[in-house]
Amino acid sequence: MGRRDRLASYRGNRDFRKSPEPSGDVTASGDEPRFVVQKHAATALHYDLRLEIDGVLVSWSVPKGPSTDPRERRLALRTEDHPIDYVEFEGVIPEGEYGAGPVLVWDRGSFRNLRDEREGDRASLGTSLEEGKLEVWLEGEKLSGGYALIRTGEPETKRWLLVKMDDERADARRNPTRTEPASVLSGRTLEEIVETES
Ligand code: MN
Repeated sequence: MGRRDRLASYRGNRDFRKSPEPSGDVTASGDEPRFVVQKHAATALHYDLRLEIDGVLVSWSVPKGPSTDPRERRLALRTEDHPIDYVEFEGVIPEGEYGAGPVLVWDRGSFRNLRDEREGDRASLGTSLEEGKLEVWLEGEKLSGGYALIRTGEPETKRWLLVKMDDERADARRNPTRTEPASVLSGRTLEEIVETES
């Protein structure tokens, strides 16, 4: 797949004269890959989890958002790769445009590939994605510790599960999607973004 093609689906869905979203580019990754979770009130409210892998943000839409409880399995629907610039995107996608509605940066930080650290596995992020089994250690402001993303069927399916791994950062009593709703970038809620940017 050519470098430009990685974002063809992303670009094809959007009119950048109308949407404030970045048109972006495939970018070389730094030492520490980044992740972002964006809270997005489109047709239905959801959380977009994006992991920097091989120069793009590989993305899943998580209707219920991430949990800190290892017993919770959250449906995560794979969506199109996004440009790296999208880690900073917060604003309102105008009515009539793809994904219309407000977006805020609910969490962000860096992550490590746990499979690559495991003796006898050493799977890269790219391989993990192909195999449908990613294990990452997030260092965010709200989320931290191991998270597994597991594809539920054939490679063609978009259905994955997002599960908190059972480690010292697991905490069944926390519920950050409910108790910490605001942006880690600006402190704003979705309602405040609508008020200030519409
Ligand atoms: Mn979305």
